Amino acid sequence: MTGEKPIVRAGSPADPSPSKARKKGRLTKTVVTLITFGVIGLSPPHGGNGPGGPVTGPAAPAAVPIAHISSGDQIKVHCLDVGQADCIYIQLPDNTDILIDGGDQDDGPAVVEYLKRQGFDGGIELLIATHPHRDHIGGLPEVMEAFEVKEVLDSGLPAQSEWYESLAQSITAEGCRWAHDNSQIYEFGQVHLQILTGGRTWKEVNNNSVVARLDCGQVEFLFTGDIEKEAEERLTGDISAEILKVGHHGSSSSTSAPFLARIQPETAIISAGAGNRYGHPHPGILARLRGLGIRVHRTDWEGTIVIETDGDKYWIRQGDGYVAGTNL
Ligand SMILES: [Zn+2]
Repeated sequence: MTGEKPIVRAGSPADPSPSKARKKGRLTKTVVTLITFGVIGLSPPHGGNGPGGPVTGPAAPAAVPIAHISSGDQIKVHCLDVGQADCIYIQLPDNTDILIDGGDQDDGPAVVEYLKRQGFDGGIELLIATHPHRDHIGGLPEVMEAFEVKEVLDSGLPAQSEWYESLAQSITAEGCRWAHDNSQIYEFGQVHLQILTGGRTWKEVNNNSVVARLDCGQVEFLFTGDIEKEAEERLTGDISAEILKVGHHGSSSSTSAPFLARIQPETAIISAGAGNRYGHPHPGILARLRGLGIRVHRTDWEGTIVIETDGDKYWIRQGDGYVAGTNL
């Protein structure tokens, strides 16, 4: 489509909140939101110097140095529209591909097709299964069947369910590394992925979700799975992030005010199904986000949402339109 309409949104230089102004050098950052109804000519080269791969380190609470992404090296984070489910695909400049959840069982084929359309090289370096609920892991066996997966990271919480058994069988058949969250830090060139969870089991399955923070320089993402308030309170360290993938599809069980105060997000992404029976996202959570001046993007309204960053600025656009429940 050619009708892209760049909309310059309120950027940090114009209206930093007092709290934002104290964050690390973020006064110079500009945020541009591009809303289109198709693929736009934004695509930077997604290539690199070889396959790269994760370097898994031991638990390390030490701060990660701020990375400066080379110009021309863009990072893409795709929040796929998979209805009332989660699926996030991350493309890094060194050709690393990361998938966080894979939608529900019915979403598997569409997720596979979506990845193929992104110039995907067929290998997933890291696949994170945040927690064993069907709307997060249901589509993963299909993904694992289609692509080579080098490592699966999960919450370490098994489940007695057909979809968990299917995933476990897929991992075994793949013969890949299977790790549980334990505060790992993955280094992909200048980009770091910090796992913020591990070593604790919660009664509520959602609270066991793997939480990860992607550090791209001056732009960070926080991926929260379906954690609820109790688990939010237990996350330690620096969880500040410009972009928050809102927990539990915008449920009132999550995204507490103290949690938001620690993250200080500028942009919130909600993955929810249009007209879902849970009433997600909850109006109170939307009001809380907007009351703090946080821009909200929703897959149920906008479809797939893609965030691109060069580590300094970021851009948001609608993706190339997988809509849950439709055939490609
Ligand atoms: Zn969920």
